[in-house]
Amino acid sequence: MRRINFSVFTYKIESEVVERVIAKLKREFNIDVSVIGELKPPIEAFNHSRGQYDAYVLIRLLDRVRDGKLAIWMIPYDIYVQGFNFVFGLANPYSCAVLSVARLGTVDLICKEAVHETGHIFGLKHCRDPCVMAYSNSLFEASKKSDSLCEECREILDKAGFY
Ligand SMILES: [Zn+2]
Ligand SMILES: [Zn+2]
Repeated sequence: MRRINFSVFTYKIESEVVERVIAKLKREFNIDVSVIGELKPPIEAFNHSRGQYDAYVLIRLLDRVRDGKLAIWMIPYDIYVQGFNFVFGLANPYSCAVLSVARLGTVDLICKEAVHETGHIFGLKHCRDPCVMAYSNSLFEASKKSDSLCEECREILDKAGFY
């Protein structure tokens, strides 16, 4: 079994929330998780006409600072990608992801979407509920889907050597 050292970057997220996310990621993926610290979303990533941050600009920045480690960046601001009103998160497989908690009202939902984006980092594609990798772009869909990986997704991770 290969232990992965996974990095967490944050910005103005309550430490209690970060702790809950870390505990959940450790449990779901059997990884070691290190909090690297605060990383401020740069103003260049802010789209003034939309009042939101461009998720692609953020992910490119994270890719430069993550030092080769798999990483997730939790921020309090709303984010978007072209063609969507908003997204909860955006991931680059085998690299990194950005997660916005702006619209996720509860810690449980934040944990769920953190697992979803981390699943993408480990190469998982969208799956069907009951599975946390089910696609959701509304709070309703996010709330009703499962908060863990299904057996099939676990098997994919297992074959990829992530378990
Ligand atoms: Zn997804
Ligand atoms: Zn699944």
